[in-house]
Amino acid sequence: MTAPVSQTQPIAQVFCIANQKGGVGKTTTAINLAAGLATQGQRVLLVDLDPQGNATMGSGIDKSTLKGTLYQVLIREMTIAQARVRSEVGGYDVLPANRDLAGAEIDLVEMDERERQLKGAITEVADQYDFILIDCPPTLSLLTLNGLVAAHGVIIPMQCEYFALEGLSDLVNTIKRVHRNINDELQLIGLLRVMFDPRMTLQQQVSAQLESHFGDKVFKTVVPRNVRLAEAPSYGMPGVVYDRNARGAQAYIAFGIEMIERVKAMRSGV
Ligand code: ATP
Ligand code: MG
Repeated sequence: MTAPVSQTQPIAQVFCIANQKGGVGKTTTAINLAAGLATQGQRVLLVDLDPQGNATMGSGIDKSTLKGTLYQVLIREMTIAQARVRSEVGGYDVLPANRDLAGAEIDLVEMDERERQLKGAITEVADQYDFILIDCPPTLSLLTLNGLVAAHGVIIPMQCEYFALEGLSDLVNTIKRVHRNINDELQLIGLLRVMFDPRMTLQQQVSAQLESHFGDKVFKTVVPRNVRLAEAPSYGMPGVVYDRNARGAQAYIAFGIEMIERVKAMRSGV
């Protein structure tokens, strides 16, 4: 007799895109990974955990005319199902943010289980998605902690610069602490080399250094420096949609496929 096939929907894998360094390509990675996964037929929710609202705007959503945002979700005035918006251009859902979210830090401090608010909200919609991506702000704040508590893993975008490894240890230690104390599912999924310029010897050296230190925790995909990716947000589009044939867009589609493979491997316990 064959075992009955489970009818339950797979639960979304939840990943934070994090690096407390500013301007390293977190939001560009979050938006384009979401759009890249959507091109592969994956159901994606992009959570904008940054009061700057860049992931919201870059997905073609006007952050000044929202009916609700992540802020209302964190203070339990709304559910994700009520606050999410469709990025028609990107083919994924967005839980948007704007400057209101900056106030959440203060409101959360007074709440019980303040670091678990996002996790609680995500659990309610997890069966509706394959991937939930969280675009973290450039801080190790209570907002970022909510992201780390809600996630299965962390993707760290980084530039291959001399100081790239500095600060990485703070983030890796934070991930370990959260893993040990609050969320034992959390793991470092990998380091993504972004804005890569192969003509620069230093970048090649740092890239090789990363591979020797972190082994298979360094993603195979390398995202090149590509002006089309930088132009796309001003058109309210992911780079993957704005110019799908550009090298940057192609890299993020390849990264989406690499992530789908990683998740398959994680699920089968490899
Ligand atoms: P913050 O810490 O402020 O949230 P971030 O880490 O989210 O920043 P991004 O906003 O994604 O970083 O990127 C910083 C700048 O670099 C942006 O102007 C973006 O368009 C540009 N950029 C990101 N990736 C690339 C790339 N591969 N090629 C060229 N420009 C890029
Ligand atoms: Mg950002």
